[in-house]
Formats: sequence, C-alpha cells, structure tokens
Amino acid sequence: MLALVKTARGDGNVRLEERPIPIPAPGWVSIAVRYAGICGTDLHILHDHFPYWPPVVMGHEFCGTVETMGDGVDPTMLGARVVCEPHSLACGTCHLCRRGFAELCAAKRSPGWGIDGAFAGNVAMPAHLLHRIPDALSDRVAALTEPMAVAVTALARGRVEAGDTVVVVGPGPVGILCAIAVRAMGAAHVLVVGRSASDRLRFAATLGFATATDGAVDLVTELTAGRGADVVVDASGSAEAITTALALVRRRGRFVAIGMSGRATVPVPWDLAITRAVDMTFSMSSNGAAWDPAISILARSAPGLDAMSTVFPLLAWEAAFAAVADRTVIKALVDPRAGPER
Ligand SMILES: [Zn+2]
Ligand SMILES: [Zn+2]
Repeated sequence: MLALVKTARGDGNVRLEERPIPIPAPGWVSIAVRYAGICGTDLHILHDHFPYWPPVVMGHEFCGTVETMGDGVDPTMLGARVVCEPHSLACGTCHLCRRGFAELCAAKRSPGWGIDGAFAGNVAMPAHLLHRIPDALSDRVAALTEPMAVAVTALARGRVEAGDTVVVVGPGPVGILCAIAVRAMGAAHVLVVGRSASDRLRFAATLGFATATDGAVDLVTELTAGRGADVVVDASGSAEAITTALALVRRRGRFVAIGMSGRATVPVPWDLAITRAVDMTFSMSSNGAAWDPAISILARSAPGLDAMSTVFPLLAWEAAFAAVADRTVIKALVDPRAGPER
C-alpha cells in the first residue's frame, strides 16, 4: 500500500513510500481507510514542531472499514464502518488512565506520530478504541469525528448549557465544529468571530451562524441585554483574539481555550479576567466519552457538512498540506484510494 511517511527527524523528510498492509495483532484490527483529515498537528510534524517517532506513517483523523482482525476481537466488527480514538498505547494504569483520561496519558502513542497512521491504504488500531458510525453519516462527515470530539471535550469542560449565548473566536475547522456542537447542545445564540472576512467565516454563515469581524462586542451586548456572552471559546490561540474573547464574556462567564498559540507566552488581559470572575479552562485532545456525542452531533448536523471538506488524492499530499497551511480550504481530507487522474 502507498503511505505518507515522516522518514526522519528534521524539517521536511516526508514522502510517499510503499509499505506492507498491516497485519493486526491480537485485540487489534486493520482498517481500510476511506478518508483521513489533515490537521495542524500534521503541519507541525512536517516542520518538526511536534514530538514524533520516525519513521512513521502520518495521519490521526480518519474513517474507514474494518478489513481484518486479530484474535479476540468481536467478530461482528468485521466490515463495520468505523472511526477510531487516537489514544493507542495509553498505559491503562497511570493516574490519568485510571480516571478515564487516557488521552492525556504520558505513554500514549497515537497513530500518525507515535505509531503508523492513516495517510495510507490501511491503518492498524486497537479494537477497543473503535466507534461504529451510523448510515446517516457520510464518510466525508464521519472523517470529522476526531476534531468534533476535541470540540465536544472542550465544550463539556466549559459547561455549555441550553439557552447560553456562545461566541467562538477563530473560524478554523475546530472553531466551526465548536459552533455546530454548541448549537446542538441548545445554545440560544452562536456567534463566530474571525479576524477578517474569509471563506471560513462565509462558510460559518452558510451553516446559519451569526458572524462578525469587528463589532462583535456591540453584537453580543445587543444579544444579551448588556450582560456579555455566557461562554467564549478561543479556537485561534492568537493574543488579539484572546483579548477580544475576554472583552465578550460576561461576569462569572466561562472562557474555553482550545487553540494553540505556537508561542511560549501569550499576553492576556489578566485583570479583566479577574474582575469579571471568569472561569478559564484549557482543553487538549479528546476524551473517550466525547466520541459518541461527537458522532451524534455530526449525524444530526450532516446536511451541509460535506461542503466543509475538500478531498485530495493521497498522491497530491503536497497540494493538500499547502492548502491547509494557506487556509484555502476549511478542512482537507486525503483519499488513499483515489488515482492520480482525480
Ligand atoms: Zn488533529
Ligand atoms: Zn496511562
């Protein structure tokens, strides 16, 4: 099978290679990959800004079909359409694993950087991390499950409640998925804020969300009779956006940080956060408990979400990575089965 491999440490060192189809160990399955999403982490691995264990097949967000199974796997899983939590090799015995936070286990080695991943025809994963996907979910939308689970994990920590006014700052894929999730959770108003008019902000508008570039403070003041937003989600990591987010949140409101800044420190209007008595929460990766809600939210929001992704053949991975880096697509998916003619 063809696979996109980070071959060695350093900037670059990524190329397509011929690899054998994985044979699953006991308790593991081999999944025929339908689509795999490219996310910021993949760009960080390309440029050597994220830990990884080369040589390793890249790709950690995917959907596919169970093709072969190791001993001890539920036989009814054969042929199932699935998505998969990326929390492979979590130890199961540490403080965090024992409390249900395998996603934060120090021993975790996810597909795409710790073990061979999904930018390939097949990927091998432990069966206990699989989730079946319903017929209502197209493969293209199902491929968004991992980032949706990241969004749901963060929003659960921000305790979004029905009737809330929620502002999402940063209209990238995770920001848009946060907006979709809070609407499904019963938010009364959802506003997506971007730095400038962009295709991403326009796409958020086509999904029915209010959008703003500047003027967000006035809009939130109006929507909340002057109180401010109940929850602000920062999906950007930019200092300017975090400052905006804290200007929008109400007293005793919740601020949820989900966007990496890429810097050692970020200036924050600290005293404003204190005087508003804001609950600040930082979130990373996806908890296992967020996956079924993520699938359910995507299934009920599915119409319109096929348009969120642009599909590239795996052979065109360089164009796909460039489109993500240049933000000319909202979400790029690679199709490992597409021929060069597509
Ligand atoms: Zn990701
Ligand atoms: Zn552990």
